This record gives sequence, structure tokens and C-alpha cells, in this order.
Amino acid sequence: MALLRAIGVDTSTDTTEEAARRQLQGFSMDPKYGPLACELVRSRALQFGVRPPFPFSTWLKEQEVNGTTAEDVMRLLHLQPPSKGASTSEADYWMSLRKLSASDAAWEMIGQMASMVIEEPAQKVNTVSKRTEDVARWIAQSRQIIILTGAGISASCGIPTFRDEGGFYAKVAQEFGLASPQELNDISFFRRDPGPWFTQVRPFLPVKSKPFKPSLTHRFIRMLEDRGKLLHLFTQNIDSLEQAAGITRVTYCHGSFATATCMACGKGQSGEEVNEVIARSQIPRCAVCEGVMKPDVVLFNEPMPVGVNDRILEHVEQADLLLVAGTSLNVTPCSLIPHLVGVSGDVPRVLINMEPAGKDGDFDAFLQGPCDEIIGKILQHLGWNLEA
Ligand code: NAD
Repeated sequence: MALLRAIGVDTSTDTTEEAARRQLQGFSMDPKYGPLACELVRSRALQFGVRPPFPFSTWLKEQEVNGTTAEDVMRLLHLQPPSKGASTSEADYWMSLRKLSASDAAWEMIGQMASMVIEEPAQKVNTVSKRTEDVARWIAQSRQIIILTGAGISASCGIPTFRDEGGFYAKVAQEFGLASPQELNDISFFRRDPGPWFTQVRPFLPVKSKPFKPSLTHRFIRMLEDRGKLLHLFTQNIDSLEQAAGITRVTYCHGSFATATCMACGKGQSGEEVNEVIARSQIPRCAVCEGVMKPDVVLFNEPMPVGVNDRILEHVEQADLLLVAGTSLNVTPCSLIPHLVGVSGDVPRVLINMEPAGKDGDFDAFLQGPCDEIIGKILQHLGWNLEA
């Protein structure tokens, strides 16, 4: 009702929310209100914090008919615009947007993709158990594998996961009087007091004096790339072990320590020197203005690095297999990848994890346990040799 009033519609005859909803739907599809009726209602709905009263596909059709470019569509939705120079064409972006519009939850997914947010811990769902030999057969048959990884694939390298049993992050948060590790990893807290965050990242900083060795799982991914089977790796990790393993077809969805930016003046710098300062338990400062230098990793409620959402949308429809390993799937937009790959209905999606993760219907196979152990078995079935 408030939305109707905001867009200047006479609401004197409408008394119920249901009637207002019907009127809004009619309004947004009525050509006499002009070619941008849906956009008008959508933007007002956003101001009121409510879901637009029509499907995303209706809004997208209006944009398409009006000749809006994919870049402008992304901007309107507060998604990262297509990165300059990317090989993906306008037609490819439109195809990805249309694919997104096939989902009933498209508006919610767009809301989540606009910035990195942590979701409520996913309801633990029963996922289909499969034998490692079945998954090995899928891998042998595939040539366009998408892999999504999280902290669990680096656990065997000595890097604690976010939800590790020892509670490393919880302990750091407690030490600084914070309610949860999430609060510690939130950009607004970092702005107020960056010290605790620097303390927390010290154990997995990529520094020359203490290099980590990639796990068997990292090396398996590299092997898939060498064999021409890896379409793309999306990693949520920030430990740079993909680089150490020599994987090149990779998107660092949560950024990396390779570069850093001054929080005050925006000056960028290579991460090497900054990381060494953090490793010495000091706060890195900008050479120009003395502001705090923040490594370019993404904290909660910060926008995703430019191009991440594009790259997800551009790859999901080319995949012939999805492997997800070592993640609780609680952080958007990566947590949406299983659903997006599943839209076509014929691509197997496999979860390799210590515990169930994701939402109902996200996976066709679940191999439970430490990922290095499971990958070791898969390698045996494939007859591929990779030293443990
Ligand atoms: P998470 O800690 O939320 O979840 C890790 C998942 O891995 C859990 O479901 C756990 O059961 C599983 N797991 C643990 N050990 C495993 C093993 N040996 N084999 C298979 N599964 C195992 O991690 P997340 O989902 O990646 O999200 C957490 C956030 O914290 C991300 O933003 C990430 O950037 C950050 N983080 C990164 C690192 C890293 O770079 N190594 C470490 C900690 C946190």
C-alpha cells in the first residue's frame, strides 16, 4: 500500500495488502504507464525494502525491450558491471541474466550477490551419498569442470578453517571482547579497530619466511587444469595456495593478499611488503598519508571484487560437472553456484566435505570426509598418479 502511494496511485478504493499487490502487478504490466513502469516500481520497492511485486523476468523483459545494455542492467541491480576487456559478449551476459530469471528466487539472489554477506548457517540437509568410483567416472567423462573451494581444502596445510573445532577465530574474537568471529570480519568493525583482524589473519598470511605447501586437493585441481578438464576454479580462500599450486584458471572470489589499499587515500600497493609488516605484529601504514593499509581481501558487507559475479554467471552455464570442496556454503555469492549450475538440470553436482552443506537440492552426490583422503581415492579410481 505504501508503495502504491509512493508512486502516486490513488489508493482510496484499496483496503487490503492483497488488493494493493494485485493493483501493483497490473500497473507494472500496463503499457500506458510507459516503458519503464517495472523499473519505477522496482526502484520504489527497493527504497521500501520490499520485494518487487512481479517476477524478475518481467523486469528484465522491460529492460531488453528498451535496449538497455548488460552493463546498465548490472549497474541498476547494484551488481558489479561486466569487467572492461572481458571476452564475454553482450549476448552472453543477456543469456546469463535470462538464466537467472528462470529461478523463482531471482530477486533474493540478486540482493545477495550485490555484496558479500554471511547467511544464517544453512539448514543441514540430507545429501545423496555416492561412491567415489561414480564421481571418478563423472570426472573422467567431463571436460568443463567448475570447482568451488573453501577453507576446508587448506585445513591439512595447517590453516584453521573459519568454523574449525579449535575455535581459533572465536578465541580471537573473545580476546577482543567481540560477540562472534563474523563481527571481527565485518568492514564496519575493521574501520573502527583494524587490530583484531590483523591478529586473526597472521596464521595464514602468505609470507616468504613461512610458506605453506598446497594440499593434495590443490594439486589435484592443478592436475585437472593440466589435463584440460578445468573450466574454472572459484575459491573463497585468501591464503594464495592456488597460486602456489600453479593454478591459473581461478577467480579469487574474496580477493587476496597480493595487493593492499590505503583506507584513507585509496593508494594501492603490492601486498608483499604489507604482509611482512602484519607478520611482525604491526599495523601497516600508507607511505603517503599514514592511513591503514588493508590487504585487498573482502570483509563481510564489503562489495565483491569487480568481475566476480560476471565470471560466475558466465561460467555456470558451460559446466558439465561441479565439484564443491571444503566449504560450509554460508557466504554469498559463492553459495549460489550449486543452484545456478543446477538450473539446466543435467549437470552432476558433487559436494566433498566433512559435513553436509548447502540447501536442499543443491547436490547430486555427497562424499563425506577429509577432502585429501577422498581425492586420494578418486585419483586411484582414475588411475592418475599424484604423490601424496
Ligand atoms: P568455513 O570455515 O565456513 O567452512 C569450512 C568447511 O570445510 C566446513 O563445512 C568444514 O566441515 C569443512 N572442512 C574442514 N576441514 C575439512 C577437510 N579436511 N576436508 C573437507 N572439508 C573440511 O569456510 P568457508 O566456507 O570457506 O567460508 C569462510 C570464510 O572465511 C571465507 O570468506 C574465507 O575466505 C575465510 N577463510 C579463509 C581461509 C583460507 O584462506 N584458508 C581460512 C579461514 C577462513
